[in-house]
Amino acid sequence: MSDELNQTQTAFASIQTPENEPIVQIKNVTKTFGDVYAVDDISLNIYPGEFFSLLGGSGCGKTTLLRMLAGFETPTSGHIFVDGQDVTELPPYERPLNMMFQSYALFPHMNVEDNIAFGLKQEGMSKTLRSERVREMLHLVQIEKFAKRKPHQLSGGQRQRVALARALAKHPKILLLDEPLGALDKKLREQTQFELVNIQERLGITFIVVTHDQEEAMTMSSRIALLNEGRVMQVDTPRRIYEYPSSKFSANFIGGINLFEGQVVSQDNGIVTIDCEATGNQISVQHSQPLVAGMNVTIAVRPEKIRLSSDAPTQSAQAANHLRGEIKEIAYLGDVSIYHVDLASGKRVQFTQSNMQSLAEQPLEWNEQVDLFWQANACSLLVD
Ligand code: ATP
Repeated sequence: MSDELNQTQTAFASIQTPENEPIVQIKNVTKTFGDVYAVDDISLNIYPGEFFSLLGGSGCGKTTLLRMLAGFETPTSGHIFVDGQDVTELPPYERPLNMMFQSYALFPHMNVEDNIAFGLKQEGMSKTLRSERVREMLHLVQIEKFAKRKPHQLSGGQRQRVALARALAKHPKILLLDEPLGALDKKLREQTQFELVNIQERLGITFIVVTHDQEEAMTMSSRIALLNEGRVMQVDTPRRIYEYPSSKFSANFIGGINLFEGQVVSQDNGIVTIDCEATGNQISVQHSQPLVAGMNVTIAVRPEKIRLSSDAPTQSAQAANHLRGEIKEIAYLGDVSIYHVDLASGKRVQFTQSNMQSLAEQPLEWNEQVDLFWQANACSLLVD
């Protein structure tokens, strides 16, 4: 395991210690609508102070799961515990959490201050305390100068801040956020991702966020639950999901990936040798779980782990895995370029190269023959 990965794991271990009980426990929760299993037997533990994302494509059940946490839907079976208390049957207003809706759901006739104060007033908080809390929230999300404006006099990003301030005003233990940045354009979304993480860290509130955007989940989350067809496919830190996907689904969902099918030949000292037709040679992968010879497996290699042999001839000579092919496509993305290379078998492989590096050298051209390599510990082995 790399040092950096170790640090991520250690940082997260401080949240997920045995004495740190989960703040949310989802136990075997299923929700059906007619014969559709929107959520299918999901169990998850979420710890205090986490920024936890429910990530998946359209219709995977993430919103239904969030709505069950909020109390807007009741599970068909299973239980939800918050802080050790079974809240499965509790109405939304009796749960120690708050929700920020994708539409923001601001009251159009109220100004920003009154929108933020609304829940506090309903709760019976005194006027003095209310104004103090509203001031604190306006400052937190930096919209003091818009306090007297109505929602229609604000930009999308400003409305998003008001909705966040309103959701945080009651100091909930847990904030549920449904696609919180979905209505913002790409640039504003990227800036706001960091602000949201800063606010969450400052307040120490547990955030549970629904998103379909893998980059957003990777940037913001302490952990991600990756969902597909109502089921959890993998729960882990962004780095581990990226570096060690547990299935072809996880590997394909997050980032670019090369997948090679093959059969196990042998396993020796933690290195598995695999016969692979597409590469025309055997592939070696570091893998500690025991495997049986002849077993069908998939090797997953990220494009940035594949290197040009001419860039690092010494490393290449020691590398376990080599490929030769012809460049068929080049996509320039500013900081990196993506190259599509066809192997003799017809299999297409992607690799990326930093443009800093390629500027210093002869640029690679279409139809050029290239030698590529990667190390046995730079890929993962998937058993489906
Ligand atoms: P999206 O990103 O598109 O919002 P999602 O992952 O949030 O998708 P859900 O809204 O949770 O998905 O829906 C999961 C499945 O349950 C879908 O097949 C959806 O059609 C179905 N579903 C959700 N709500 C209802 C409902 N009230 N009645 C019938 N089917 C529903």
